[in-house]
Amino acid sequence: MRDTLDKIKEEVLGCKKCGLYKERITPVSGEGNAKAEIIFVGEAPGSNEDKTGVPFCGKAGEILDELLETAEIKRKDIYITNILKCRPPNNRNPKEEEVKACTSYLDRQIEAIKPKIICCLGNFAVSYIMTKFGFKDKVQGISRIHGSVFTYSSIFGSLKIVPLYHPAVVAYNVNMKEVLKKDFHSLKSLS
Ligand code: URA
Ligand code: SF4
Repeated sequence: MRDTLDKIKEEVLGCKKCGLYKERITPVSGEGNAKAEIIFVGEAPGSNEDKTGVPFCGKAGEILDELLETAEIKRKDIYITNILKCRPPNNRNPKEEEVKACTSYLDRQIEAIKPKIICCLGNFAVSYIMTKFGFKDKVQGISRIHGSVFTYSSIFGSLKIVPLYHPAVVAYNVNMKEVLKKDFHSLKSLS
């Protein structure tokens, strides 16, 4: 598993499959436990992540760390990555063609790790992951489905998909922290 993740990282570091390679500093492949039972998927690297190559290491990362503590989840036990591996200029939203070009990396990371739970942080992750696992018709705005659990079953076992608000919303609305905390708290009963 670790070998596969390292191989993906190597490919991401040299990737030019979409235009974002031109302005990125450091591609951010993902970080964490190769045998994680839980994967967190965010949107795309921000400025701190672009500088360091580490996912969720800036302000949104600080909030995520606090939320993980609420759920008694340790970073070393999980895997954290994003829909896009390179930072969009000025943190603009991902474009459809960028998501299309990049998500084969995420697909391979999920396949290698075989998590039991995928937590989707924000609308872009929710939409991609839910569609990938056959819940396209259940996709709604994050304010409607945050905290719900969608179970995908296959012969390999079951996978729970949990839509969550993106931690960065707290920067715009402090009241959202309690909503996020409540949803993260409920992750405890899943893992
Ligand atoms: N926001 C994200 O979606 N991902 C990061 O890695 C950092 C901020
Ligand atoms: Fe490649 Fe993804 Fe970076 Fe685009 S965002 S250059 S597809 S790694």
